[in-house]
Amino acid sequence: MQLTAFEYKLLPTLASLASSVTLEGTYPLTSLKKGARNFSLDKGINYHLQLTNTGGAVLLSGTACASLRGECDRCLGSAELTITGEVQGYLVFATSQQDAANARLDDAEAEFTVVDKDGSVNLAPFIYAAIVYELPQMVLCDPACAGLCPVCGADLNLGPCGCSAPSVAGDHPFAVLKQLL
Ligand SMILES: [Zn+2]
Ligand SMILES: [Zn+2]
Repeated sequence: MQLTAFEYKLLPTLASLASSVTLEGTYPLTSLKKGARNFSLDKGINYHLQLTNTGGAVLLSGTACASLRGECDRCLGSAELTITGEVQGYLVFATSQQDAANARLDDAEAEFTVVDKDGSVNLAPFIYAAIVYELPQMVLCDPACAGLCPVCGADLNLGPCGCSAPSVAGDHPFAVLKQLL
């Protein structure tokens, strides 16, 4: 997925030790994907970020909050979620282009981001990651969602369908399996 860039220039505002900036606003994202799941966002991601120079680097912290709509894993109906995640980053100023290149090679998985010489950094991936990280393993329209009938496919939230099959919802996750055996 192509994220719209959210460029922020750290310099000169955050050039000196202990200098700090607060950023608030809405990142205009309309859809999001995690694995095979798709979510839509009506109001983007609200962010509240703090950037602080800790000496040679800028610490990024804060929160991101979004309302998302996805598909219920049980009944395939619309499921609404409100997600709040923590934004975290460690933005290191490159002292030279060679340093930046080395840092990228040696620490491909390190938890810091090398900032280019002009001091601008794209904050979009940090805000996006904060929300994606907090998405639940199971998406439900309601914790008590009864799901679909495994025989006729009827939405059991609307009432019993008349089939004799046991419901797959609730505390009998292997009910369907048992039937097959
Ligand atoms: Zn449901
Ligand atoms: Zn049925």
